[in-house]
Amino acid sequence: MLCLHDSIRHDDPAVQRLLGAVEDAPSLTALILAAWQVARVLTVHLIEAVLAERACRPLAWPRCPQCGVFLRSKGFATRQVMSLFGPIRWRRRVGRCPHGCAIPQVAPLDETLGIQPQQRTSGELQQLGCALAVFVPFATAARLLGWYSGRTVSPQAVWGWVQAAGHRAMETLQEHLHALAQGDLPAPEALAADLAAAPLVLGADGVMVPFRPTGGQPTGKTRWQEIKVGVLARLGQHRTRTGKVVTRLHHRRLVAVLGGVDALQPRLWLEAVRQGIRQAPQVVWLSDGARGLWRLYEERLAAYAVGILDFYHAAQYLWKGADGVLADLVEALEVEGLPDSARDTLTALYAYLDRHRDHIDYAQYKDLGLPIGSGMVESACKWLIQQRFKGVGMRWSENGFNHLLHLRLAWVNGRFEALFGLALSPNL
Ligand SMILES: [Zn+2]
Repeated sequence: MLCLHDSIRHDDPAVQRLLGAVEDAPSLTALILAAWQVARVLTVHLIEAVLAERACRPLAWPRCPQCGVFLRSKGFATRQVMSLFGPIRWRRRVGRCPHGCAIPQVAPLDETLGIQPQQRTSGELQQLGCALAVFVPFATAARLLGWYSGRTVSPQAVWGWVQAAGHRAMETLQEHLHALAQGDLPAPEALAADLAAAPLVLGADGVMVPFRPTGGQPTGKTRWQEIKVGVLARLGQHRTRTGKVVTRLHHRRLVAVLGGVDALQPRLWLEAVRQGIRQAPQVVWLSDGARGLWRLYEERLAAYAVGILDFYHAAQYLWKGADGVLADLVEALEVEGLPDSARDTLTALYAYLDRHRDHIDYAQYKDLGLPIGSGMVESACKWLIQQRFKGVGMRWSENGFNHLLHLRLAWVNGRFEALFGLALSPNL
């Protein structure tokens, strides 16, 4: 049984100094901050005491990966890792091959603790840094982290963690897309009964992001590139305080890609299967008139989803009753002496309405409680990108954008903790 007294030396001058600062703190805030320093030192002592005890336990040495004989201890060596509470040090046995094979030094305790050989910061610090970076610039994230850890954290360190975690997220996605392409469908996500009974809505939109010039130089003309974003959610009704019934998106999931509709399609389908497109009682595809997105709908979703053309986009064409308008248009196009410009406009209008004939039965959609505007789809898409990637003066490298985008997706989709394999929940 671990005893706190064993791990803290009462005569430790560093602890005495910190305790003195607590006693002398004039204001409540200063008192709390001074006590926090004590807590941090105690925490480090506690962790180091546990590690010291574990390092003394007998251990089973693995075999040399090259010659197969059991490795042998070369004695104790010090290891240090930066944590949320400051640096943590421990001494543990390291082993080498007795035949002198050129293999890296092996530390079985580190492996048991889940520490990688080159790792210099512990998981909880990286996770918090990445969580902050999902919302604020790297420099701000580094500064906030510095407040908590009591040490300077560099923006480059935060970027390094984002890269590592973003890379894991992208690799996992690639594995899932590969499995999907092999016909291996993912299991639908578990849903509460009321959500499972609600209609599933899908939509997509394009959002422009500023990138550095080709080659990634910091100077030169900004390149704007489109990010395709898809949203999937369950539709819920909510009554406001004034008694008005409004539609809300629940269990919102986002997919996004720096690329075109063809790159979006498998990602959207993967998530659609996870969100129960094959089981949902009603599925709706909501979109404006963008043709690539309607092609995606036809190719991938039409077997499951009703397609609804955004009412407000259709209204721009002064739609009043599709069949009547279409008939009038055919007549109008036959009028002799029609100026070419008018003919072009009417032809475009005819093609638009004809293409979306099945997607504009608004009276029926309203009766079914389905939304007829894609505004909420578009704002969900915009939020993912706008809030973090379009700050004043921001310009991205494709590499930087992609790593952070996948962390942000993990966050909004409730998969962030899984990415780090730890939960930083306060209700442990
Ligand atoms: Zn060997």
